[in-house]
Amino acid sequence: MGQFAVIGLGRFGSAASLELMRLGHSVIGVDINAKIVNQIADQLTLAAVADATDEHALKDLNITACDAALVAMGESLEASILCVLLLKSMDIKEIWVKATSKPHHTILSRIGVSRIIHPEEEMGMKVAQSLSYPMVNQYMSIGHSLYVVEIKITEKCQGISIAELLKEVKDSIDPLLVRRKKTIFKRIEPSFTLEMDDSLVLAGSLNALKTIAPRLA
Ligand code: ATP
Repeated sequence: MGQFAVIGLGRFGSAASLELMRLGHSVIGVDINAKIVNQIADQLTLAAVADATDEHALKDLNITACDAALVAMGESLEASILCVLLLKSMDIKEIWVKATSKPHHTILSRIGVSRIIHPEEEMGMKVAQSLSYPMVNQYMSIGHSLYVVEIKITEKCQGISIAELLKEVKDSIDPLLVRRKKTIFKRIEPSFTLEMDDSLVLAGSLNALKTIAPRLA
């Protein structure tokens, strides 16, 4: 179990803090707005009304003991940057920050934080990709144009084997597993036959995945 600080409990910060709690972590939530804090207080380990640019307030809340901090104040560039500088001076190693503009991103990358998040852009790209490939339930970029994707098997490719599905791209895509209702099949052989509603997890290059996409839709 980790201990996290979430600074700014707007839509983004509150969703992140509730998910961290659901995953079994301890979360200190901070917001300057008492109404917002009161709405979420009973769902977090600790929720406090405080100005995140006030060093004493952050120290009083024992933010220094946190493994990681998520700064989710998008609108106020000044508050976000000041807060990041304070967290860095408190020697918090893992600092993730929501950025809302290019200048915000530039300053954060110059100061040096663990990760800069652009929720709207990242979500926009995910939505576009889901619209473009509706059969892809989930995907994860693992860098260098490589992805892990979970694909729902539809009527179109039920009954076909993995070898047939991946025939032109068998060297560029690895089938990792198939989930069929509650059963997980690992070490998938080329002869494995897919059934309707199977979830197939593949790892491979974007180009190779695009090659097989028309066969799946
Ligand atoms: P979202 O999209 O997540 O709702 P947003 O990008 O519009 O949020 P803001 O409105 O700037 O971002 O801020 C998110 C939260 O941060 C708000 O609840 C706000 O009260 C809080 N906040 C802003 N400034 C401070 C500050 N100095 N200290 C603590 N909390 C702050």
